[in-house]
This record gives sequence, structure tokens and C-alpha cells, in this order.
Amino acid sequence: MAENERSNEKTPLLSDRSNRSRPYSQSSEELNSVLINSTIEESFERVDTSVRVHEEAKPENATPDIKIETDTFVLSGRYESLDYDICENEIYQKDEKQRITKWQIRKELARWFIMGMIGIVTGLVATLIDVCVQVTSKAKFDYIKEYINDCAGNLCLAVPFMIWIGFNVAIVAVGTLLTVYIAPVAAGSGIPLIKCYLNGVKVPYVVRLKTLFVKVIGVISAVTGGLVVGKEGPMIHSGSVIAAGISQGRSTTFKFDLKIFKYFRNDTEKRDFVSGGAAAGVAAAFGAPIGGVLFSLEEGASFWNQALTWRIFFASMLSTFTLNVIASYRNGHALDLSSPGLFNFGKFNTTNYAAVEIPFFLIMGAIGGFLGAIFNQVNYHLTMFRQRYVYRPWTKVVEAMLVAGFTAVVGYIIIYFFNDCEPMREEPKSYPVQFFCPDGQYSSTVSIFFQTPEEGVKHLFHDVVGTYKPVTLALYCIAYFIIACWTYGLCIPSGLFIPGLLIGAAWGRLFGIAVGAMFPAATWVDVGKYSLIGAAAQLGGIVRMTISLTVIIVEATGNVTFGFPIMVVLIIAKWIGDLINEGIYDMHIHIQGVPILGWEPPVMSSNISAREVMSHPVSVFRTKEKVGRIVDILKNETHNGFPVVRDYDPSAEQSDDTETFGTFHGLVLRSQLLILLKRKVFKENPDYNKIVSTMKLEDFRDAYPRFPPIQRIHISPHERDFTIDLNVFMNPGTYTISDCASLPRIFKLFRALGLRHVVVTNRRNQVIGIVTRKDLARYKVSRHRGRISMEELLISQP
Ligand code: ATP
Repeated sequence: MAENERSNEKTPLLSDRSNRSRPYSQSSEELNSVLINSTIEESFERVDTSVRVHEEAKPENATPDIKIETDTFVLSGRYESLDYDICENEIYQKDEKQRITKWQIRKELARWFIMGMIGIVTGLVATLIDVCVQVTSKAKFDYIKEYINDCAGNLCLAVPFMIWIGFNVAIVAVGTLLTVYIAPVAAGSGIPLIKCYLNGVKVPYVVRLKTLFVKVIGVISAVTGGLVVGKEGPMIHSGSVIAAGISQGRSTTFKFDLKIFKYFRNDTEKRDFVSGGAAAGVAAAFGAPIGGVLFSLEEGASFWNQALTWRIFFASMLSTFTLNVIASYRNGHALDLSSPGLFNFGKFNTTNYAAVEIPFFLIMGAIGGFLGAIFNQVNYHLTMFRQRYVYRPWTKVVEAMLVAGFTAVVGYIIIYFFNDCEPMREEPKSYPVQFFCPDGQYSSTVSIFFQTPEEGVKHLFHDVVGTYKPVTLALYCIAYFIIACWTYGLCIPSGLFIPGLLIGAAWGRLFGIAVGAMFPAATWVDVGKYSLIGAAAQLGGIVRMTISLTVIIVEATGNVTFGFPIMVVLIIAKWIGDLINEGIYDMHIHIQGVPILGWEPPVMSSNISAREVMSHPVSVFRTKEKVGRIVDILKNETHNGFPVVRDYDPSAEQSDDTETFGTFHGLVLRSQLLILLKRKVFKENPDYNKIVSTMKLEDFRDAYPRFPPIQRIHISPHERDFTIDLNVFMNPGTYTISDCASLPRIFKLFRALGLRHVVVTNRRNQVIGIVTRKDLARYKVSRHRGRISMEELLISQP
């Protein structure tokens, strides 16, 4: 996606107030001065433009390059919205009348069946990833371990070193090549994209089957290739793609259509299933079905839907169960069912905490928030650097290979120079390597670096006191902080949960050692517990998720007693982090310019009215519209929704500020018009009555979600004079809003109902403007040097 984004940012700006639709009653200068003056007392200013854009000096025929210079962004025009508003036109009414109770029951049963399938398939995919990672990592580490043990005495350590680097670079190259050239949208964890999708933004290719394949292979190669990443985050994306695929009963990538579940082929139903898939992904990743449900609700839900929540829970439970059955069988205790997730934190020695520890936990929360904010800030600058200089496909591949090599080199250097020898203990070590240590001892530096990040987290949680010297932990923490920061944003599927936990587990353990040194007689000090709290604090400081993350961690710990300290730590980490910057997912969403709508309207925006937010003039169609005019507007404009009006003459000059665009009657979508044009539903057509009477909802659903572009529809010059009667097809019950309504009111309407367009009308029900998601997402509150200001982002052309 980053590549596509880059090309997108080269396009000229749409909302550069000079060429964008005019505000209804005031010039932009007037508007800004009025707002700034009216808000000075509240020490709250509104800034006209948020992005300084300049064109680079280029040859005359070259495309102008837009560079983002500041720390704020352009809102990308290429993201469209999902449409949750049901079009209640005549065809829909007719269709609903024919439906009988039996059909409703069948549809409900199909929903449950699909959710069940989503859970099972997500569990199976998680198992596949897990098995592949385990097998390939074991083969790699076994092979290198042999060499290290042989060479430590013979002083030929360069050989295993080169093999290690070679393995990592080659494996990571496979994953990144696939991602860069086949499905760039599969890069990263996919959580920000799924957040956007659930929020109502259509992210291109995000739920395609091709993306799932690249995601699965890519994440296996990223983890096996030694990158500091986890496979858990990508499971959320994978679950979502599985959900979208199963619920639609077809795949455009592989061009097959099972012709089932046709009634679920619309944005509303698809999003419901995708939220089930995301929940099933979390459930599979952490064995946290409740955390999964909460994740979907926290990230996506507009309002609480009891029936949907119940189905999402069903999918999550089935996902965990499927994974549990297979993993328990593989672990040799088939009937125990004791391996619920890809990753669980294992059993802790201590199952409780003392009241005197709470202040320490608070301090750890603050450290986590602060370190998380630093992590995000560094990653932000790195991302901006990547956007400018590392945007060509081959540079992305080279960067990923470089990071893979660098990770191995850093590990090796630390192992070589900081040999921390510990006596061999009872508890099993994944890869105990003697290295330069005397007989009967192993190098704990080697073992800490010589494992997958997931195993690293578990060892930090559970290894007994004294396994690692403080200096080893400090080096490990610093090295992984830097590497993880560089790794997040590479063009390869990878999760951030495990690196976050790993860094926090390392400094948390250090913190525990320090507390133990301060209170040598205390029985309550347990380094594993501090490691867990540090892990939670660090992850919370980076991602800033609250309720779902608390529940995920509690479920993964399997101990509800830790619920309170984990919650407190996550809250503190979020508060401290939020004082400095945004969570990493939100930061990346804003960098990409996605028009996402937050939970609440921007603060102190109630003095902004619909007239200032809306676009004006509006492209409208008359109830009986000429085919030629429809074709011209669809070709020349990118809009997806058009008010349908009466008493409007498009040929008349409309210039003054009081202009209206006829009396409002309904709203028609571009997708509907395309189908009507393709099927030649013209009044002059001799078979017109027959065509209209036989048209069904399926005619529109079959083309969903990829409707034919207007350029591919042939309309003869003769047909241009024909007429389409939009009364039958428009949505007469669409939402409108008065021109006096405030921004928060419009925002809530959009957020709660998942709307795509709202038509602004005056008291006489005449159309005077239109508002879309982008018009609302443009308003962004930002903090700079302690001052709060309202920015209006510009919208780039699609
Ligand atoms: P979306 O992209 O969210 O699916 P859309 O393509 O209809 O919906 P946007 O791309 O969000 O609309 O619109 C970009 C800008 O064009 C916004 O400022 C919006 O107000 C304006 N706009 C949308 N529809 C119309 C219209 N019919 N006439 C005039 N301006 C419009």
C-alpha cells in the first residue's frame, strides 16, 4: 500500500480551498479569521492549512512531486468509504415484501454457519503458520548451533556467523519479494488497515485472498528469518481476509464464485463478518476469545449490537478451540486441550501480588508510556524517511534484507563480546550453547538471542533469578528496542505485539532485579511478575489500546489476579504516551492519510456548522435525467453519491452564494448508475417496463464490490438523449441534515450509522451542499508546544 500511497501523494490536491468546492456563505479567508477571532479567548486556534506542500524543480513534462514537509499530512483522496446505509428503493421494498419467515431463519442460520467456518478456518491457518515457523526455526537454529559448538574451540566463528546472516537474509528476501511485488497491502501487522476497514474506510486489496497468501508466507519468513517480529498481529488481518472470503462465497483473485451467500454481498454484512474474523484472529493468536471480541468492538463497532457480538464470540471461541485441539495433539496431550493460542504467557511462579508493589507498577506504567512514546516518535521519523527515499520496490527489498542482516550482526556482536556464562540448570533451554563457557555451563547471552522472539518473551517471564546478568538484559533491551523500531514498517508481514512485549519483558526483569536488590528480605519480589508488568507497560505505551489489550494480556496470562495491575499499568502507559504523541497504529493511519473517524468529534468544534463543512456546489441529478449528462458527470467527477432533485436547471448560471440545487428527493450511488447504464434501463427502450419489473437486488449485488468503470460502458451518441427515471432506483429515505447543524452533530451521525454521504438542505428542503467522511476527517486537533490548534487537512485527488 505504501507504494500506491506514494504515487497517490504525487497527485495534485483537491481540497486546496482555491479549487475545492466553495464554502456556502463565506470565503475561506473570512471563515478562518472569524474562527480564529472567536476562539482566541479559549486559547484555541484554527489553522488554515496543515501541510506545507512544494513542488520540486522538475523538467516541464514531469509529474509534479509533492513533498510532505511538516509533521502533518494530506488526507488521501483515494480511500473510499464503505456504505452501511441500506438503499430502501422500490426494488428493495419489493424484495422485502416477498421474503417469508423461513427465508429470514435461513439467513440467520447462514450467519452462524459462516461465523463458525471463519473461526475454524482461522484456527487452521494459525496452526499452519505455527507449525511452519516451529519447523523452519528449529532446523535453522539446530544447524547453526552445531557449527557454533564446533567452532568456539577452533576459533572459526566466522563460519556460523556467515551462515546465520545468510539464512536470515535469504529467508527474509523471499517474504519481502512476495510482499513488495504481489501484495504490498500485506506488509506489517495489518491491524491499522483492519481498524480503518472496521471504521468504514475501503482500503484497496485489504481483504483479498491474494493478500492472505502473501501474509501467511511472509510472516513465516519474517519470523524464521530472525526479524524482531511476531506472528500474532498478522493473524488479525488473516482472520479478516478469511471472513471476507467465506462470507462472500467467491474470490475475485482466483475467479471463482460458489454462488452462495449472495444476500451477504454488501458492505454492512461484509463488515460484520470481517469484525468476526478479526476477533477470531486475536483469539487464535493469544488464546484470548474475549479479548478478540473486545478488540472488534473497540476498533470497529459504532454501536453495541448484541446479536452480532454473540456471533463474533462464537467465531472467537471456535478459533481458539480449533487451534487448541490441533496444538494439544501435536504437543502429545491430545485430550488435555491445554494449548489455546499461538502464544500464551505460560504459568507464572507467583499468582498474586502485594499491595506495596502497586506504586512500583505505577512507575513501570509511566516508564512504559514514556518508552513507548519514544519508540513511536523514532518510528515516525523513520517512516517519513522511508516515504521520501525508500519507496521504490527494490529499495524496500534491500532494506528488509539489510535489517535481517543487521539483526544477526548485532546479536552476534553482543554474544561475542558479552559472554554471560551460567551453570546448566534443570529447566529445559531451547538452544543451550556452551560457546566460550567452561564445561557444565552455557552462555545465557547466546540463548537469549538464539531463539524466536516469542520464546525470548517466555524465557524472560519464567527463567529463574540469576539466569541473566543485568548487563545482558540491558544490552538485549537496547538492541531490540532499536532493531524493533527499525523493523516496524518494513515491507513484510510482521507483528508488533511480540517485539513490544519482548522489550518490556527485558526492562521489566531488570526493574524486578532492582526492586529485589532494594528489598532483599521481601518475599513478594518475583522477577517474572515484573517482567510481565514491564511487557504490558511497553506494549501499552506503543499501541495505546486499553480494554481489549488488558483482556488479551489477562487471558494470555491465564490469571485474573493480575487483571488489576495490568489494567492500571496500561492506563498509565496510555496517559503518559498520549501526552507525547499518538499510538503507533493511529500514527501510521494518519501518515497514510486515511480518512478515519475517531470515537468523538474534534474537541471545541461545535462552533463549526454544516455550511462550513459541506462541499458546494453539488453535482446533482434530476429525477428524470438525460443519459448523456449522467455519463459526463460520472466521467468527469470522482464522487460516488449524487442527490436526486426536482426543480433544477443545470444549464442555468448558478453563481451567487444563495444558490440551491433543486428540491431534495433522494440519493443515488455511482454504483447504481453504472448498473443502470450497463443494462440500458432507459425510458425510451421498448422493453423498459419489462426490464424494470424484472430487476432484482441481485442485479446490483452480483457486481459488488467491483462495479464496471464508466469508461468500459458503451453509450452511443443516440442513447445520450435518452432518459433514466431515477425515482425507482434512488434511496428516498437517505439522511439529510439542516445547514445549521454543528460539526459534532454531523460527526455523530456518520460515526453511529456508518454513513457515506449526508445531503445538506435548507429550510425549504433544497439541496445546498453535501458532506462525506473526508469532509469530517479533515478536521484534526493537534498539540504543538502545549498549544491546542485545529488543523484542516487538505484532500489529495484520488
Ligand atoms: P467516498 O470517497 O467516501 O466513498 P465520495 O467519493 O462520494 O465518497 P469523497 O471522495 O469523500 O466522496 O468526496 C471528496 C470531496 O467531494 C468531499 O469534499 C465531498 O464533500 C465532495 N463531494 C462528494 N460528493 C459530491 C457531489 N455529489 N457534489 C459535489 N461535491 C461532492
